[in-house]
Amino acid sequence: QRLDPVHLPALLEETQVIVGGRLASARAEILVDLPPDLPPVMAGATRLQQVLVNLVTNAADAVEGLDDRRITLSARLEGDRVVIRVRDRGPGVAPAIAERIFDPFFTTKGVGLGLGLSISYNIVKDFGGEISLRDAGPGAEFSVVLPAALPVS
Ligand code: ADP
Ligand code: MG
Repeated sequence: QRLDPVHLPALLEETQVIVGGRLASARAEILVDLPPDLPPVMAGATRLQQVLVNLVTNAADAVEGLDDRRITLSARLEGDRVVIRVRDRGPGVAPAIAERIFDPFFTTKGVGLGLGLSISYNIVKDFGGEISLRDAGPGAEFSVVLPAALPVS
């Protein structure tokens, strides 16, 4: 599938609108941290949107009912790639299950489908990128690394 330059500020705004109902019901608070000079990423906008919706929805699930319900969305240029991070301060992912969370149908939620991360993994791989989990102690931090759409010099 074709990849185009995708501007993250607008995409992150849209993500907050799409997940708005869930963010409100979890009483989650979104903080966005983007540098002003961030280049676009090479991706498919709709599919990248789906990845972000999945990650932010999981973060909302993780913080619901806690005191600290902040979710941070950030992005940085690192070399010729952009790293997008979705970080929460919830319970995090137990080391014993960390390697299974990207498997299809793996869920720890009573009503979970367990497909969000597996779909996200495949989408990001299609873009030539990487998705990974880091223990943010406390909390979980998912990183999506994508090629930057840099001007050819
Ligand atoms: P689902 O949300 O339907 O359970 P996902 O594929 O989105 O399926 O996530 C799989 C599992 O990964 C979740 O059930 C949960 O155990 C774990 N997980 C994902 N995101 C987080 C997070 N932000 N904090 C804690 N656990 C998480
Ligand atoms: Mg999910």
